[in-house]
Amino acid sequence: MIKTKILVTIGPSSSSQEVVESFVKEGVSGVRINFSHGDPSTWDSYVKSLVEASEKYGQYPALMGDLPGAQARIEVAEAFQVRKGEVVPLLVRREGVEEKKAILIKSAKLLEKLDVGDVVLVDDGRLKFIAKDVSSEGAQLISLSDGVLGPRKTIVIEGKEHEQSFLTEKSIEILKYAVSRGFTYLMLSYVRSRRDVRLVKDVLRGIGGSDVGLIAKVETRSAYENLAGVISESDAILIARGDLGMHFGLEEIPGIQNSITSRVREVGKPVIVATQLMESMVNNPQPTRSEVVDVVNCVKEGVDAVLLTGETAVGKYPVEAVKWLKKIISTAEKSLSLPSEYRRTVQADVRDKYTLGLVLLAESLGAKLLVYTVSGSMPSRISKYRPQVEVYAGTSSKPIVRKLSIYYGINALLINDSKTYEEGLKDLYGKLLEMGVLSYGDIVILTYGSKDRLNNYLRIFEVISSATSV
Ligand code: PGA
Ligand code: MN
Repeated sequence: MIKTKILVTIGPSSSSQEVVESFVKEGVSGVRINFSHGDPSTWDSYVKSLVEASEKYGQYPALMGDLPGAQARIEVAEAFQVRKGEVVPLLVRREGVEEKKAILIKSAKLLEKLDVGDVVLVDDGRLKFIAKDVSSEGAQLISLSDGVLGPRKTIVIEGKEHEQSFLTEKSIEILKYAVSRGFTYLMLSYVRSRRDVRLVKDVLRGIGGSDVGLIAKVETRSAYENLAGVISESDAILIARGDLGMHFGLEEIPGIQNSITSRVREVGKPVIVATQLMESMVNNPQPTRSEVVDVVNCVKEGVDAVLLTGETAVGKYPVEAVKWLKKIISTAEKSLSLPSEYRRTVQADVRDKYTLGLVLLAESLGAKLLVYTVSGSMPSRISKYRPQVEVYAGTSSKPIVRKLSIYYGINALLINDSKTYEEGLKDLYGKLLEMGVLSYGDIVILTYGSKDRLNNYLRIFEVISSATSV
């Protein structure tokens, strides 16, 4: 089983039950629904497909929603072609007036920030313009490329950010929706500082959603500049390279990715890399050489997970993209060992130190590590030390299985409700024997941890019979 996890985005090309089942069968660890597109009924159909597939295969990937943050989108009367050098007006939309061949925006806020000579990026940077004749009503944009302007494409001024509040009425509705459907994680787009994350946390608390994990997407300059605060306020971090590449030079992205990855790893929270991992697979059944190298680089950096976006949402080969990722990751993991400094975490407490010892012991014995958990805290601790042995985490809570599934190296399994931790471990052990994961001669370490004090259980033995009790 691979240690670096695979997450997918569900969209039009993966909406069928068949594709969702293939994702689950292939072992994806999380499924993202992008709330920027579709409506609750579409999202419900995605959720239903995932829940059905999960029950069918007994595998519970994380259910993840992506919350649109502070962002602006354009309107157009109808899609139109622009040519390099052509001038296109940028106007604030007026009720009842239909302006053809113009880029329309909802509010004048964007114009307040726009200066002559600024670069304006539309559709994730696919179209680029230079601004001239800027006034409070509009501006003229000189196109730097050929392309098509369509409805609801994103618009940003290069290097400048939106000032609006992180949550709109619409996004609060989405939060309520996500809580009502039991989403495991919410990804927060265009986070600027810890304040944005805190605001979502506060709203969630008020609507019974304190259990939802928050994954801040680092994709703006301010999120990167305020990284320490953003990391400490979030449960996990996503490096959203699509938008990052619009706010920074593309040549800076590898360095930024590396620095974010190591800073998140150091505090022991999950870190995920997204976007254009297998971009060419939107149209082709196999990745390019350089895409393969990019994925291997993510494995080398010791990220917890990689997230496919367009490849699985709108691409022609969603399942093939997952299969390729699996193949690349599994080959890379066989030949790579992560540097030992990846195990240095800042502010390690006594339970962290115990956990590091546990991981080293398991590795030294070549043992399989079995951990029973109620809250998920012990497996998440184990994960941050990047264990190079197989780790199985048993819990009787589906939400905890879903939550743990994005963590590096943790195979989370659903087991029966247990009265005691020892019973839980027995059940996990029996299940793994039945599954054929454990067999004669395997060295096994059974453990669990306590939530607030150092009070751990540790048992080590060799499997000598197929009896499922220990
Ligand atoms: P998006 O996020 O797909 O919501 O834009 C990913 C990214 O920006 O890389
Ligand atoms: Mn983005």
